[in-house]
Amino acid sequence: MATAAHKRIVLKFGSGILATPKGTNLDQRQFARLTKEIAVLVSCGHEVIVVSSGAVAAGLGALGLAERPEDLASRQACAAVGQGRLMSTYTEHFAKHDLTVAQLLLTHRDMDSRISYANIRNTVARLLANRVVPIVNENDTVAVEELKFGDNDALSAEVAILAEANLLVLLTSVDGLLDAKGRTIPRVDDVDAVEKFVRAEKGRLSVGGMSTKLQAVRAAVRSGIPTVVASGRKAGEIVRAASGKPAGTYFPPLIPLQAQ
Ligand code: GLU
Repeated sequence: MATAAHKRIVLKFGSGILATPKGTNLDQRQFARLTKEIAVLVSCGHEVIVVSSGAVAAGLGALGLAERPEDLASRQACAAVGQGRLMSTYTEHFAKHDLTVAQLLLTHRDMDSRISYANIRNTVARLLANRVVPIVNENDTVAVEELKFGDNDALSAEVAILAEANLLVLLTSVDGLLDAKGRTIPRVDDVDAVEKFVRAEKGRLSVGGMSTKLQAVRAAVRSGIPTVVASGRKAGEIVRAASGKPAGTYFPPLIPLQAQ
């Protein structure tokens, strides 16, 4: 387990920050920057778990599709094609920082079974002890909740709770939770009270939107995990969030974590 200074951090990357502007391929420059920032955190002694979408986007390019298909089976097929490409992209970029990655494909159902839950926890703990970066995605072939609604928002909160993380950071294509005038709200103590600010629209490439993010935030802070919603396209944002410096919107835990 990470100490108070060395945090266990779950970072969630949505499709909107991993894909190229057209959304049909992976943005190599983004991968280079994000993996470099994670390498900084690991070199400081933090333990990092990545919850990553991007399989559908990678699959679109591979299958020669110009747009995200409407029907679920086609999106599942894209994810199945793209998942290998997603992992090879992470493997290649993390290798430049001497970091090894592991693939964990999970479903919400896995979290409901006590045996599966324990197995996931044990695997994650052993990977982190070996300085491996676990890369989690929904297993889109067998489950479709995140394909339909969340782009892994809910899954990231479940992973943070399972791993007893000290921090959850949801990286997205906007700067954080925005008020009615489009300004970033720096801190939110009451998630329910801010839901009225949430805009119905969402980024063209983002599957989740702010509403599913707030549900994930609520689950995490209720479990004592401080959460940040911040831009995944701003340099240095991950490191700032991890070091408690101003970054996006900060949601303090409702139950204070015990000193680790
Ligand atoms: N698990 C999916 C992915 O990795 C979710 C995102 C989506 O629906 O596009 O691509």
